Amino acid sequence: MVSSSPTISFDEALAQATDGRGLDEHGIIALLDCGDADSERLFATADEVRRRFVGNDVHLRALIEFSNHCRKNCDYCGIRARNRNVSRYRLSPEEVVSTARQAADSGFGTVVLQSGEDAWFTRDRMACIIRAIKTSTGMAITLGVGERDEGTYRAWRDAGADRFLLRIETTDPDLFRRLHPDDDLDARKACLVALRDLGYQVGSGVMVGLPGQTLQTLARDVIWMRDFGVEMIGIGPFLPHPETPLAQALPGTINLTLRLVATLRLVFPYGHIPATTAMGSLLPGGRERALAVGANVLMPNMTPRAIRDDYALYPDKVGLDATSDDRIDDLHNRILALGRTIAKGPGHVARHCQGES
Ligand code: SAM
Ligand code: SF4
Repeated sequence: MVSSSPTISFDEALAQATDGRGLDEHGIIALLDCGDADSERLFATADEVRRRFVGNDVHLRALIEFSNHCRKNCDYCGIRARNRNVSRYRLSPEEVVSTARQAADSGFGTVVLQSGEDAWFTRDRMACIIRAIKTSTGMAITLGVGERDEGTYRAWRDAGADRFLLRIETTDPDLFRRLHPDDDLDARKACLVALRDLGYQVGSGVMVGLPGQTLQTLARDVIWMRDFGVEMIGIGPFLPHPETPLAQALPGTINLTLRLVATLRLVFPYGHIPATTAMGSLLPGGRERALAVGANVLMPNMTPRAIRDDYALYPDKVGLDATSDDRIDDLHNRILALGRTIAKGPGHVARHCQGES
């Protein structure tokens, strides 16, 4: 990570964030670049903003990684098409629906269906899955399946999908081009616009520590997401996978990742900000630390255990297992021990509260 020298002080930046002016690029850089003592103040402020705007609830989303087939070759990703060492799997539509039902029976209000860009799951197949889950469970449905055309997104929305996660990854056009041999930044942005216009609650995000990324890049990403109106912001450290072109790159750091989580809470007081799997994989307790500095969402994994290890975006991926009631009870207890509560219901974004304090 190349540093970009902040042009305003940490104190000025924190004032910018909390006195109603809103953070600009310089303010965000100053927060991301701060030292250990200032980090503690940033974290405490973000935690307070989290408590005031979205309360103590932690929202639990049941994650089903239903296919690791992907047509793309993002340079950072372990399941990219050209990685021949991946054992590829695909749950059947019936298995996806039955796993989602199991999540509903375990008390989850949201299911997240995530996969590589797998064309086998056509518009109609996916619509059937979404409709079956919606009618049989009533759960909120989040999709994270990559780029499709607008008609497909519309069909899935009509079938009952509520939310969509599509990380922008980076808004720097050169960096985006270097990392994505078969993708285009404008096309990705157009997907996000289509999703927003169709009424999805839209989530996006970036990785921290991509080779060639600077603090200025990250600051511009945050401002882009704010201006776009993203409602869920998922970030995590970049973790190099040995069978990718970025095998030799350094991983993102937990400190910068946490400072970004805290900064995001100041920029998106009502946003849903997950403590992501990548944070927990980089550092034991990484997710708990994220919950203490602004995050309010966890995504426990319901993917059947026999195939879960094959969804290896990066090595040593440490998910929160939610495939048994014991595991879920244990997770609840860990959240309560942090002084937090467990959200009930679908946990939609508080869209209509913007501006209230
Ligand atoms: N294929 C869909 C897409 O790209 O939008 C959804 C699944 S994709 C695996 C989910 C996210 O994983 C990506 O948006 C990316 O940010 C993250 N990811 C992939 N490889 C990673 C790595 N090596 N380290 C950290 N995060 C990674
Ligand atoms: Fe495929 Fe998503 Fe991985 Fe890119 S990040 S290779 S689109 S699964």
